[in-house]
Amino acid sequence: MKNVIYADNAATTKLDIEAFEAMKPYLLEEFGNVSQPYSFSKKAKLALKEARRTIAACINAEPDEIYFTSGGTESDNWAIKCFGFQGSSKTIITSPIEHHAILNACKTSSADVKFLRVNSYGEVDEESLIELLKRKDEEIVSSTLKETLVSIMYANNEIGTIQDIKKLAKIAHDSGALFHTDAVQAVGHVNIDVKELDIDMLSASAHKFNGPKGIGFLYVKKGTNLYSLNSGGLQESGLRAGTENVAAIVGMAKALKNNIAELDNNIAHINACVNSFFERLSTAQLDYVLNGSKNKIPGNISISFKDKNGESILHLLDLQGVCISTGSACDSVNNQLSHVIEAIKCKKEYAHGTIRISLGKNNTIEETQILAEKLIKVLGIR
Ligand code: PLP
Repeated sequence: MKNVIYADNAATTKLDIEAFEAMKPYLLEEFGNVSQPYSFSKKAKLALKEARRTIAACINAEPDEIYFTSGGTESDNWAIKCFGFQGSSKTIITSPIEHHAILNACKTSSADVKFLRVNSYGEVDEESLIELLKRKDEEIVSSTLKETLVSIMYANNEIGTIQDIKKLAKIAHDSGALFHTDAVQAVGHVNIDVKELDIDMLSASAHKFNGPKGIGFLYVKKGTNLYSLNSGGLQESGLRAGTENVAAIVGMAKALKNNIAELDNNIAHINACVNSFFERLSTAQLDYVLNGSKNKIPGNISISFKDKNGESILHLLDLQGVCISTGSACDSVNNQLSHVIEAIKCKKEYAHGTIRISLGKNNTIEETQILAEKLIKVLGIR
């Protein structure tokens, strides 16, 4: 990591050192399978219980509403493919700017999938949700069991836009639909209270909030009908088969607890980094547009430069030891724009010059100044 400026925290984050330390005993000493009844597994079993309690408390859920998964992708797939009663006729209403974990899960589900409108800031149009739910009501044939899931991401991974989840969940519930949110980019970065939001399901992933990779959870409100995605043992109340990764779960709980405890300080620091980046950037005459809404995930800078190429900017910055991402991950063959940049109708002359900088709690003001300087330099190269 020496001399590397890591500014791609929406892709993944550095493991919290305390989370790492908390994981070690469950990798090296207390490695027993928690499904076994002998006393050797007791400490691991207790750690699992405690981690579930900690995670639940961080989002104001009950411990038995937290189901451990392998990460955001699995949580999203589970919610999309397994809601409601098996065999019932289903509809999913979602937005066109969701992560592919949602969009591709929708493609392989047997449900009828309908898409909401989004505006140029990436905000979901509430009227389009009302319209789709109303149309759905009219389609209902009383003798068949029909169920609807509305799935809208909490914060977009490319442009950072935060949705009004409480309002959207209320609209869904007023029509008898279930509500799921992919909160992978939000958990550990903003305050989330599932009771206050009144949502039925929420997906989260540890590596986005300084926890280990390959672990996440799905919050499922008590009483929500969800069947199992994979077949096997009776782990996770018989709903998610597979031996629990205790070390990763313990690390996830510690990382989330630490991030939530420091949330206000982290947000203030990240905002200061963002401001310092823009101050430095303003010293150059650059033609760009900023993507996303005002209410966005801390540290997200999705920026589109006129007549530039995001891929080239990424590679030129990489050569200088700076890690960023393209918001518009171009398909090198088709040179297509990302579905998000397309959905918000970013002007063509800017769209291809999109990059995503995502700052996190470990970035420094000094780093953001250097990043801005290097970016200015790189933009001068055609
Ligand atoms: N959902 C969103 C919004 C994401 O940003 C990501 C990862 O980038 C995922 C889901 C997938 O999460 P994971 O990498 O844990 O599978």
